[in-house]
Amino acid sequence: MSFQKPKKRFSQNFLIDENIAGAIVELLEVCSDESIFEIGTGRGILTRLLAASGADIYSFEIDRTLIEELTRNFRGFDRVKIINQDFLKVNPDDYCPGNLKLIGNIPYDITSPVLEWMISNRRKINRAVITAQEELADRISSQPGSKNWAPLSIFCQCHFNVKKVMKIGPKSFYPPPKVTSATLLFEPRKGYAIEDWNHFEKIVRRSFTQRRKLLTNNLSEPAGLSRTDMEMVLSRLGLPPTVRAEQMSIEDFLRLDRELKNANLS
Ligand code: SAH
Repeated sequence: MSFQKPKKRFSQNFLIDENIAGAIVELLEVCSDESIFEIGTGRGILTRLLAASGADIYSFEIDRTLIEELTRNFRGFDRVKIINQDFLKVNPDDYCPGNLKLIGNIPYDITSPVLEWMISNRRKINRAVITAQEELADRISSQPGSKNWAPLSIFCQCHFNVKKVMKIGPKSFYPPPKVTSATLLFEPRKGYAIEDWNHFEKIVRRSFTQRRKLLTNNLSEPAGLSRTDMEMVLSRLGLPPTVRAEQMSIEDFLRLDRELKNANLS
């Protein structure tokens, strides 16, 4: 028996280039005493390489029609568990009490939710290697001042150092996707002290509502503030009245968030 045709419904584009698979897995720097979570087993090209490391592998695959063949292929690998579950619903504590490393070639439609999963489970994550559409990878790993700098970049980079490591062309996948992919390396960083994450998230999102507009315009209206008040807040932070969200660093957002919160301005 062999695998069925790839399914569009689950955005299945299977990696077929062994060299690239090797390079991706190497980035995870797996040791045999670690627990590895894989998002989307697919046909198991990464799983096989992970299995060779001797670590505990928990590989989650949503498509139940792949499971039988995968289970057969990994028979004899006691430390590899293929689990038929939606990764987004996984509570890591149900599988391992300690820390974990995360790896996955993930479809476009689950990229943001996977990042949210990573942020909520950040204390358990020692390292992550995520391959996604290049456009999203660029957004996640971008820096202030770039047109890609966005709430997604800020929220991830509050908790992880993110590096774009390599590009992968469509021909390395079957079927080839329409776009280029890229692999990101996430390393935990010392987190910022953010007392009220929901407030911070709200301020960042609002700041970017209309990216071309000045920050004062995006923020003053929903907060019921006059432009003058808002400009005063900015000047207290040493920021020009003409500043735009895409020019602001994470530190700038943190100070802005604190200032607005302390002054009860939002
Ligand atoms: N890692 C494999 C598969 C990549 S394709 C490889 O590199 O070849 C992405 C895989 O993720 C598919 O097998 C798809 O069925 C699976 N998938 C999609 N959404 C998922 C989800 N929410 N949870 C778990 N697996 C998912």
